[in-house]
Amino acid sequence: METIAVVGGGLAGLSVAALLAAQGKQIHLYDAGALGGRATSQVLKGFTFNYGAHAVYGRDQSAIRLLIKQLKLDITWLDFSSAKAKYEFAGHLTAAPANAMGLLKTELVEGTDKIRFTWEVVKTMLSIERGEAEISIGQWLIQEKVEEDVARLMLDLASSNFFTAEPENIPSSVYFDYYRKLFRTRKPVSYIAGGWQTLIDELERVFLAHGGTIHRKTKVTAVEESGVGYRVRDRKKVEWAANRVIFAIPPREMRKMALPQSVQQFIEPYARFEPVEVLVYDVGLCPYIDTPYSYVFDRTHQLFVTDLSHYDASISPTDGQVLQTVAYLEHGQVDQAAYIEQKVEQIHELLDHHYPGWRDRLVTERTMKRAIVQEIKWKMGQHPLPCFLESDEAIAFAGDWCEGEGQLSELSVSSAYAVAHEWQ
Ligand SMILES: Cc1cc2nc3c(=O)[nH]c(=O)nc-3n(C[C@H](O)[C@H](O)[C@H](O)COP(=O)(O)OP(=O)(O)OC[C@H]3O[C@@H](n4cnc5c(N)ncnc54)[C@H](O)[C@@H]3O)c2cc1C
Repeated sequence: METIAVVGGGLAGLSVAALLAAQGKQIHLYDAGALGGRATSQVLKGFTFNYGAHAVYGRDQSAIRLLIKQLKLDITWLDFSSAKAKYEFAGHLTAAPANAMGLLKTELVEGTDKIRFTWEVVKTMLSIERGEAEISIGQWLIQEKVEEDVARLMLDLASSNFFTAEPENIPSSVYFDYYRKLFRTRKPVSYIAGGWQTLIDELERVFLAHGGTIHRKTKVTAVEESGVGYRVRDRKKVEWAANRVIFAIPPREMRKMALPQSVQQFIEPYARFEPVEVLVYDVGLCPYIDTPYSYVFDRTHQLFVTDLSHYDASISPTDGQVLQTVAYLEHGQVDQAAYIEQKVEQIHELLDHHYPGWRDRLVTERTMKRAIVQEIKWKMGQHPLPCFLESDEAIAFAGDWCEGEGQLSELSVSSAYAVAHEWQ
């Protein structure tokens, strides 16, 4: 039987490996670090912090839902309470327009602007509005003379879903494609009970149950052509033969490896594209601070805080609370220490304002000053890596840097699906 090597055991690598193993294929999965990559969770003093991914957007329309169903993964969804989602606006909190009720209540847009915003939503859902690949959403809003409040709200939405401080640079065709799907959802935001590690553990369980082989702590340094297919080599110079190879590692990691020239040339431009970067500040508190909101978006500073314990009591000790705060970063400023310090201060202010007393209840904290949310940012002039190489049918790619449906982890899973489908 032929062997398929999957290099990279993040969400994408594990998903494609489990899907192909379930089809009876012989799969070897190689991962350099902790299996699960950016979708893992870690426990500090009894508090579970997700490394990265925390929410699934539009789960009823998503590839993750299909994956869970098809592989019979044991996952419990915890759905977002939109009534408890708030935007900070002019110094006070107002309803977030996460659904029709939120739109009726929100003060972000008023009167005729509310009608205009609703009209934009309807046009998007009905595919009347599709945007254009050559025009950014910022340019489109100017061209269409969309009212300032409505335009601001459309960009705020994109900040939250694309995790970006520069939503105006998203190509308008990508914007409308994304919202066409999301506006149809009945489950705008959901969390995974126990954290994302639960999903990773379930994928690992299914992969092993179907006879898959995992090479843990194995950093692949070379994938070279050999007579029968490929030779995969790690940094200790151990070698394995494979007939086909799926690269589920980011292009900037791939370019450090010895690769066939055709692959090297293909990935090179993608390895230079800008990623989506954020600052993450997680705190574990005890006792719990009860508030009338579970999510607050500070639109002035482009930060948000989610009370994950509101949805999932299992991620903290009794009466404890996990708050996850994320600040969207501008790529041009991420190297400046003063900019990062300013973001930390803004996060502290947000917590002081909405969770007074949090400092006295602090049990543990975790800061990631520059976390990569998505390897290739959606902005004009950048585009995702195709999943297949035209010149070589035995090579494929999967990950959140690849072409696929949705954004963030949805891209990892949908590109994994595309490869598993093509190679079935
Ligand atoms: C702070 C933060 C918040 C996020 N929030 C959300 C969210 O709310 N919703 C959402 O949907 N998504 C979110 N994401 C994004 C989500 O976490 C990622 O899209 C997803 O986990 C990416 O999975 P992947 O497999 O494509 O890539 P990765 O997780 O990067 O996997 C790549 C894997 O390759 C391995 N590797 C690298 N080099 C080698 C090598 N040479 N040899 C062998 N293995 C190698 C790595 O160890 C890693 O396991 C967030 C991410 C971050 C960082």
